[in-house]
Amino acid sequence: MADDSHDMVEVLLPLALEGPLSYLASRSLGLVPGDYVAAPLGPREMIGVVWETRPLTPTNMKLRDIIGKFDMVPMAALHRRFVDWVSTYYLEPAGNILRMCLRAPAALEGERQQIAYVASGAEPQRLTPQRRRALDVAKDAPALRAGELAELAGVGLSVVKGLIGEGALKPVTLPAMRAFPEPQPLGLKLKLTAEQEIAARDLRALVAERGAHVALLDGVTGSGKTEVYFEAMAAALAGGSQILLLVPEIALTQQFLTRVEERFQAEPAAWHSELRPRERERVWRGVGEGRARIVVGARSALFLPWRKLGLIVVDEEHEGAYKQEDGVPYHARDMAVVYGNLGKFPVILSSATPSLETLVNVDRGRYRHVTLKDRHGRPELPRIDLIDMRQTKLGADAWISPALDEAVRDTLAAGEQALLFLNRRGFAPLTLCRACGFRIECPNCAAALVEHRFRRQMQCHHCGFTQPVPQSCPSCGATESLVSCGPGIERLADEAASRYPDARIVVLSSDLSRGTLLRDALRDVTRGEYNLIIGTQLVAKGHHFPQLTLAGVVDADLALESGDPRAGERTWQLMAQVAGRAGRGEKPGRALIQTYLPDHPLMQSLHRGDRDGFLAQEKRIRQEAGLPPYGRLVAIIVSGNEAGETEQFSRWLARRVVEARGIRVLGPAPAPIALVRGRYRWRFLIKAGRETNVQAFVRAWLNGVKPRGSLKIDIDVDPYSFL
Ligand code: ADP
Ligand code: ZN
Repeated sequence: MADDSHDMVEVLLPLALEGPLSYLASRSLGLVPGDYVAAPLGPREMIGVVWETRPLTPTNMKLRDIIGKFDMVPMAALHRRFVDWVSTYYLEPAGNILRMCLRAPAALEGERQQIAYVASGAEPQRLTPQRRRALDVAKDAPALRAGELAELAGVGLSVVKGLIGEGALKPVTLPAMRAFPEPQPLGLKLKLTAEQEIAARDLRALVAERGAHVALLDGVTGSGKTEVYFEAMAAALAGGSQILLLVPEIALTQQFLTRVEERFQAEPAAWHSELRPRERERVWRGVGEGRARIVVGARSALFLPWRKLGLIVVDEEHEGAYKQEDGVPYHARDMAVVYGNLGKFPVILSSATPSLETLVNVDRGRYRHVTLKDRHGRPELPRIDLIDMRQTKLGADAWISPALDEAVRDTLAAGEQALLFLNRRGFAPLTLCRACGFRIECPNCAAALVEHRFRRQMQCHHCGFTQPVPQSCPSCGATESLVSCGPGIERLADEAASRYPDARIVVLSSDLSRGTLLRDALRDVTRGEYNLIIGTQLVAKGHHFPQLTLAGVVDADLALESGDPRAGERTWQLMAQVAGRAGRGEKPGRALIQTYLPDHPLMQSLHRGDRDGFLAQEKRIRQEAGLPPYGRLVAIIVSGNEAGETEQFSRWLARRVVEARGIRVLGPAPAPIALVRGRYRWRFLIKAGRETNVQAFVRAWLNGVKPRGSLKIDIDVDPYSFL
């Protein structure tokens, strides 16, 4: 209907389309850029965001009408610019970025009364297993909406509706959503030490300047970085801004949230993947309306509909969890800096082991450097000693050396906590047949199945495939011939249980991370209910265990053997973080590292506590190889269901490469894990100078390329995984 009562609007939809789509909009809707609208697409109705409005001009296109506008504050212009920026940088359709911004669509419907359901106590006439599951969930949970209940119980909506119809579930009206309490800048502030006070002053000044400045808050574990960046947050609060405190997902514990709450005397909003839908809606809308002032969130919190974001703090900025690997592969720390740049507000990166990228930005004068040297109440990081495993005889099924064993015994005897660290989930990473040499592999992936004895399963860590542990060799049929090779954390726990029968042992790994199990376990460790903690990298991250005085690393060489350019940096960070878990309370701590490479420069600098020495060498290696942050990388991953077709397509792509100055295309080569989830994988690695526009190169290269059938091209700008 093209008349002068209509405007034309460009609406971005959360789909992998080239750009926004044009629609007609009745002028009475009063649409402005940023408005959330319902728009028709084929037979569907979708939520989109108005990207542009303009007067109606004659067009040959048959435009459809916008269906309606949601009653919601429009998405801020800055946020829309951010979406466009992320899209261009990661060579990803803007609609895919928008999809990350629309993670709580029901929030657009406002706080209208909502009906939820509770178990009424009445039994339904027919009790199918699915109905039983739904009722069990309803009995244990607070009132849930029909959709939530179906999702949690893993049943269809019709099952829930059936139960409602028969009166087994009865409706209740949900109370209005909780308000967001106003945080108090002064709150409950600790008396800072002189050094902390200087750092806090620098950060407050940074906030007061209200410019696009980035500061690295660099201080050993326990030096009080959190207390210090709280001061910057307080300053931003006083200035009226919203604040985002980004944490690696796993560190988003109740312990940490409570700490923020105590400091600011108000419960912060939390944002992570495990939020219940209703809470997600509350936070999304609260942020969009500017009512939620402090959000403590995992990386995706960047894409909340911010209104007046004025400070981002990235805690543990070196953390790998900030890189999203599936969906849109983006790096939340880097995008936080981008957001600050676009919005002209400060960003604080905090870490005890900053990334090389960030340190080089400090060297280049782009980031300020705020340091804390004193470990609060402790003079220094714990002493790190190396145990030379080449000189150590281990018994069968033993991974703990005599030296480490003795240290654990002493620690337990003294009534303190010890940590044994091994970065490998499950019981054993590899199972072989002694009779025929067969190794048990995943049917979908070119990778060994990992035995998880606790669950009595063989598991693929790439695709999630599971099967029972076989009784005999699947290849030659021999019985009692299968041997578990190498240690996983469960096997280490077995060894510890037999060595220290009186110890109160807890195993902490991401296998626990579902639900509240992990949170409870962490709380119990803090309370001292366990005295021997066996953990994967999960325990290295930011947790504060005051009674822990010994950190023992069972195998420090694991990561070093990979082909990853950041392997050295990661090993350093991990070792320093693990060691940093020890001695955070009253008593001093120490760390012991078992290694077959005790002469490796990295191990030596760990032992000497020589961070600068390690960094200098690591920078030299990267610079000579033109690796980040001295050069740029883009990975292109080609995958498909057929081996031959995938290879041919990759080779065809290689022939399309046009030479460009400052850019080298390596590959294609079969990926180190050449088969994942039944898909064959080939990789290209693009190496480019720091100043080259590598995105333009990739766009030109892949322009017009349309992978057919099962073939797919994934682009990973600034890759962190090389598998
Ligand atoms: P980081 O973030 O550098 O690891 P934290 O801020 O978590 O360090 O501080 C470590 C511990 O020391 C915390 O329990 C914190 O409450 C305490 N702490 C830090 N600074 C002070 C201070 N000035 N006064 C009292 N306790 C402090
Ligand atoms: Zn698999």
